Amino acid sequence: CGIVGYIGHRDAYPIIIKGLHRLEYRGYDSAGIALINKDLKVYKKAGKVADLENFVKDINVGGTVGMGHTRWATHGAPSDRNSHPHSSGDRKLTIIHNGIIENYATLKEALQSKGHVFKSDTDTEVLIHLVEDIRNETGLEIEEAVRIALNKVVGAYAIVIMSQDHPDLLIAARKGSPLVIGVGKGEYFIASDATPIVEYTKNVIYLNDNEVAYIRRDDLLVKNIDNTVQIPYIQKLNLQL
Ligand code: GLU
Repeated sequence: CGIVGYIGHRDAYPIIIKGLHRLEYRGYDSAGIALINKDLKVYKKAGKVADLENFVKDINVGGTVGMGHTRWATHGAPSDRNSHPHSSGDRKLTIIHNGIIENYATLKEALQSKGHVFKSDTDTEVLIHLVEDIRNETGLEIEEAVRIALNKVVGAYAIVIMSQDHPDLLIAARKGSPLVIGVGKGEYFIASDATPIVEYTKNVIYLNDNEVAYIRRDDLLVKNIDNTVQIPYIQKLNLQL
């Protein structure tokens, strides 16, 4: 039910955890994070954000790229296994998602018949396997594979995707669920609403439906999922916390 992402020069973990706390008011049953610190690492737990913090307290959660999620289960019971992020295969693609993939059952069946093995009961995991499958079939880069996958999905989503092979990239997209990008100096923030972002920057972009954002420390590219480049509108927040 909540999404936070960070790419920049600061330690990502504390920014993400604080952001998840700020989104707790939305309600949730599980929490998880992914961080890139050479390797892509995922930590997730049913329960509160505090339980997740407790779970990682003896782990080195360093890294300047990461994302966090609070889940309100719609497909698959609340459990560690069904918590986000969800990953696919050897390419270490990882996704967090708010919303519902309505055609997940058909997509899942097709992917299973091609040998994909699923580790959760969620609709979300289907989307990341679909991205991997498109990469395998076409040899396309992650940016294009995500865009094509989103064209095959029916439903509502706000997502962020990270890839071990692209440690300097966050891919965010939305349709029907909100997603905000905070624009800093050499850093970007992502969140379901502006509350986790406002203490770092007042410059924000509200992604529109059917837009996908490719976010690097010094670069932001927004496209429509039909592949037309969009000029993002940066607006100034006057929110106080
Ligand atoms: N449909 C997804 C799930 O059940 C995401 C739920 C959410 O919005 O948190 O895992």
